[in-house]
Amino acid sequence: MKVYLVFFYCVSLCISLSVSTVRAQAALEGSLILDVYDQIREPLLHQRRFSHSEMVPLVEKLRHRPGIQVNKVGQSLEGRSIHLISIGKGPVRVLCWSQMHGDEPTATMALFDLFNFFSDDDAILIKEKQAILEKITLYAIPMLNPDGAERFQRRTALDIDMNRDALRLQNPESRLLKSIRDSLKADIGFNLHDQGRGHSVGFPPRPAVISLLAPAYNEVKDINEVRLAAMQVCASIYDNLKHHIPGQIGLYDDTFEPRAFGDNMQKWGTSTILIESGGMKGDPEKQFVRKLNFLAMVGALASVASDNYKKFGLEDYKSIPPNDFAMMDLIIREAVISYMGNDFTVDLGIRIRDIAPPDSSSLYRKAYIADIGDLSTFAGYVEINAKGMHVKAASYVEINKEELSFIRDFASWLEQGIGFVTGDESVQESMKGTPFIFISEAPPQSQDALKIGDDATFILEKNDQLKYTLVNGAIFHSENKQFYDLDGNLQETRIK
Ligand SMILES: [Zn+2]
Repeated sequence: MKVYLVFFYCVSLCISLSVSTVRAQAALEGSLILDVYDQIREPLLHQRRFSHSEMVPLVEKLRHRPGIQVNKVGQSLEGRSIHLISIGKGPVRVLCWSQMHGDEPTATMALFDLFNFFSDDDAILIKEKQAILEKITLYAIPMLNPDGAERFQRRTALDIDMNRDALRLQNPESRLLKSIRDSLKADIGFNLHDQGRGHSVGFPPRPAVISLLAPAYNEVKDINEVRLAAMQVCASIYDNLKHHIPGQIGLYDDTFEPRAFGDNMQKWGTSTILIESGGMKGDPEKQFVRKLNFLAMVGALASVASDNYKKFGLEDYKSIPPNDFAMMDLIIREAVISYMGNDFTVDLGIRIRDIAPPDSSSLYRKAYIADIGDLSTFAGYVEINAKGMHVKAASYVEINKEELSFIRDFASWLEQGIGFVTGDESVQESMKGTPFIFISEAPPQSQDALKIGDDATFILEKNDQLKYTLVNGAIFHSENKQFYDLDGNLQETRIK
C-alpha cells in the first residue's frame, strides 16, 4: 500500500361558513392532521428519485379507491403516460400539477398522500373531508414531465425547460397542461416545484423549507382579483405552516417571467399559487418537507372550501419574508490557504449537487467548492470553525484487490488524511458505497490552490496536526475519530 501526498488534485464532477366548517378547518390545519398522516402516507414512495414506471402502479391503485377518477390524458414525447386524477363534486375547480421539472419530485409524493387522505373512508376527519369535497373538485397531474423524471433532470426529453414553454408550447407536456387548464377553466391552480438547498430566509440565514408565491401576470406586477385570491391562499398557507417551521418560509421572487406557466396561468384567469419545496437540515430525501407539502395542500383546500382564505389581506401576504439565496451545505470558517508562499484567511462554501446515474434509481451527492472568501453573509447547514487551520490537499492511496480484502475499516485512511483511492477496476467497484473518491490514475503533482468547482476533498491541519479530513464534503474529526455525512449524521467507517 503506497500513500501519496497530492497538492490540490481535484476531480471536477455536483391545505361552510357555518360553525362546523370553521371547526373543520381548524382540525385540518391543526395537529390532528399530523396524527392521521402516518396512516395515509403512500409508503411505496420514500426517496426523491423514482421513475414513471414506479409511479404508474400507484396511479392504478387510486383507480380502485372510493370517489377517485383516473384518466390517462396524454403522453410525454417519449410515450410515457400522463394522468389526471380527480376527487370531489364541488363547483370550485382546483388543478395541481407537479414535477414539470423532472428532478423536483417532492410534491408528487405529497399528491399521492393527498389522494390517499381524501379517499380514505376511515372515520377520522370524515366530516371535514366531505365538507371540502362538496365545495371543491380536486384535479391533479402528478409527474407532468416523466421523461425528465426518468433522467432526474429539470428539462424535458427535448432539453427544453417546460417552464419557459407556456407560450410557444413545443413540448407535448406543455400543450397538455394548457389544454387541461383551458378545458377545466380551473379556478385555482397549484404549481408544485422544488427549489435548491441554497434558498434561505432572514438573517442569519435559515433554509427556506417552503417558499410561496402568487406569480405576477405582467411586468408591473398588477394585482387583480385572480392574483389577489392567490395571494390570500398563500397567506393562509403561511399562517398554517409557520407554527411548524417558524422562520423557514419564504416569499419567492415575483419577477414576471413571460414564458413561465405560473405567470401565464394567473394571466389566463386561474388563481395560481407556487409552492416550492426547499432544503431542510437532516432531511436529504425531503420526507418531512413532503409532509409539510401535504399539510400545506390540505390546509389550503380547507381554507378555499370554507372561504376562510378571504380573511387574509395583501398585508398578510407581504408579511411573508422574502427568499434569499444564502445557504451553503457546509461552511468552513476562517481557514488558512497558502498561495505563492503567503497565507490568506478565507471561508470555504461547499454545496452539493445531485448526480443521477442512468439506468439506476439512485442519486449520488457530489460536494464541491462553491465559494471562497468572506462568507459572513451566508450560513451553512453544517459549519466548521477552522480558525488557524491550514487547508491542505488530501492524500491518495494506491491499492490492489488483495490488499483491499484485508481492510475492514477505513478510519485509519481518514486518520492519515486520505481522500482519494486509485487502483484497477476491481478496486473501483469496491470503492462504491465508501466515501472515497476513486481516481483512475495517480494525479499529477500540482501546487495549484483550491479552486471553485473542485471536489470538497481536502484536509485541515493546525500546527501540522490533522484536525479534519473532508471527503466529498463528509467530515472526519481526528479528535474523536467520528465521521459525519453532509447532513451531520454519524457515518460508519467499517466496510459492510
Ligand atoms: Zn421547478
